[in-house]
Amino acid sequence: MVEPLPLLTKTSELVRARTQLGRFELIVCTDGSYRLDGGAMFGVVPRTLWQKRAPADDLNRILLGLNSVVVRTGSQTILIETGLGNKLNAKMREIHGNEELLPSSLAAAGVSPDEIDVVINSHLHFDHCGWNTTLHPDGSVTPTFPNARYFAHLDEVEHGHLQLDRDRVSYLSPNYDPLIESGQMTLLTNEGIRTDPEIVPGISVELFPGHTRQLMAIHIESEGQHACYISDLIPTTAHLDPTWVMAYDLDPLESIEQKKRFYKRAIPEKWLVLLTHDHFTPTARIELNEKGKPVARAGEGNLV
Ligand SMILES: [Zn+2]
Repeated sequence: MVEPLPLLTKTSELVRARTQLGRFELIVCTDGSYRLDGGAMFGVVPRTLWQKRAPADDLNRILLGLNSVVVRTGSQTILIETGLGNKLNAKMREIHGNEELLPSSLAAAGVSPDEIDVVINSHLHFDHCGWNTTLHPDGSVTPTFPNARYFAHLDEVEHGHLQLDRDRVSYLSPNYDPLIESGQMTLLTNEGIRTDPEIVPGISVELFPGHTRQLMAIHIESEGQHACYISDLIPTTAHLDPTWVMAYDLDPLESIEQKKRFYKRAIPEKWLVLLTHDHFTPTARIELNEKGKPVARAGEGNLV
């Protein structure tokens, strides 16, 4: 008997975590929960193993979160990731059961869209950059954060434009093309990141390829404290084992190596890990258990 999935996100659950990192304030907001196929989320791992960590519904879907992180540095307000957005058609909404809550979540956290100075997308899959822009009833699309400079990786845009058979459904160009055309989005390159990974003081990006070739983690550092938004390299606390990688990953072998590389710093340096799709553990610290396997303990600031 599979546990029924929880009901839709309640108003009291719109702010998922709030904590201080050195001089920075971190707030984890959410675009609400959604559902993806459990098999696709765990690749070659048998269902008998993964369903202990992530119960599936009768359509084999598991519940996931859509966590965005607001960083207030004192001089600027940064938004990492913009959730799934409001551009799915009725059929896709039924499949994913998504909630379109990011605007309400930001409001609940006391963050106005006008005050966002910088938006960073770890990659451009539709569930990571959905609220970059807002779709209106007349079909027009406008920037959700009118005063923000947006940052994404150039190769991600080019890959999306190829509309390959393998992953064309993951790329919705209204999430980024209008921002590129208007000059509001800055496109990063590997060379540019190598030379200068910093987006604003204390916030930088680093490539962790595997899920996509140019997946970027976002580092947040203040007064010796370090948080990292690791995005789809480790989507939830159920994906900590290096070999538990998603079927969505374009290069699963690379994902395994990159996870190990991530742990080499994140564990000894006790980073606060910000998890993109874990609805119930948005922040975690990772440790090794007695068998040498990575395990998560809830990070500070979780409100759910
Ligand atoms: Zn993705």
